[in-house]
Amino acid sequence: ALERYASIRDKQAVTLCGKMIRLDMNAGLMADLPSLENSGAEGVGLFRTELQFLVRSQMPKRTELAALYARVLDAAKGKRVVFRTLDIGSDKVLPYMKAQDEPNPALGWRAIRVGLDKPGVMRMQLQALLRAANGRPLSIMFPFVAQYEEYSAARAEVDKAIAREKKLGHILPEKLEIGAMLETPSLAFACKKFYEEVEFLSIGGNDLKQFFFAADRENELVRRRYDTLNVSFLTFLEDIVNRCKATGTPLSFCGEDAGRPVEALCLAAIGLTSLSMRPASVGPVKHLLLRCNLDDVRKVIHDARDAGEQSVRPAVMEYLRGLS
Ligand code: PEP
Ligand code: MG
Repeated sequence: ALERYASIRDKQAVTLCGKMIRLDMNAGLMADLPSLENSGAEGVGLFRTELQFLVRSQMPKRTELAALYARVLDAAKGKRVVFRTLDIGSDKVLPYMKAQDEPNPALGWRAIRVGLDKPGVMRMQLQALLRAANGRPLSIMFPFVAQYEEYSAARAEVDKAIAREKKLGHILPEKLEIGAMLETPSLAFACKKFYEEVEFLSIGGNDLKQFFFAADRENELVRRRYDTLNVSFLTFLEDIVNRCKATGTPLSFCGEDAGRPVEALCLAAIGLTSLSMRPASVGPVKHLLLRCNLDDVRKVIHDARDAGEQSVRPAVMEYLRGLS
């Protein structure tokens, strides 16, 4: 199997019906960087910056972070890397930050909420990213944005950081794009102006699914209860795809489901053209996409939905059995 994936490594994921799906990898540690060469990923669709904070016993310094991010960009050799700003709180608690006693941490003070309420660390991180880019293109993504105003406020922080860098005489990124993760149902229903303004969106399917079904992603009693291929969830995702199409907003999907071939196929069939996954999943996902006709899969999905199925999985599995 490994050889099979090696032979398609440098191939683009073009489906039988001629649709090109961009496959990126998720990363966060320096150890992930060699995968940029050998996984076949086109770039890094999600760089989880909190991992660098979690492996330390004290808050990293700005110069240290800038050097790390520069190494990531060096290794990427011009491939796109999407840096997600610090996503802490909930299941990810920094040992050197005062832990909050919260009744529901997943619904609590986490990610962009911490970043906006206590902007010191986020400002330091933004500055480190701008310095690391050192004139190269830079993509920054904010985690867990639940409403338009949070995106605007985070963006204003980027503008401030840029003004500061300029004043200090530092070279600015050649191109800068600022996106948001769509991880709460509320953001999906944000106004059109938000979709027009945000430069790109990436669906954090792990969190989005947990909030959609009100089922804790960490809780063994419930986490496998609801299928990602449940009709309600797919219909919701398809609605997000259509909203993005209407405004021309680039959309990707970076939750774990993007790395599961059958799930990835269904995501592509409902219109997602960009998926980001763990490096080892790029081969298997590509292998399946190459063999499938998305128009057929979309029809299978819609027919199962129209027939009143709860999940489209059995119908899609049936379709896959029919492939030669
Ligand atoms: C997600 O929620 O799907 C996601 C990609 O972010 P994380 O898993 O780091 O919460
Ligand atoms: Mg998330």
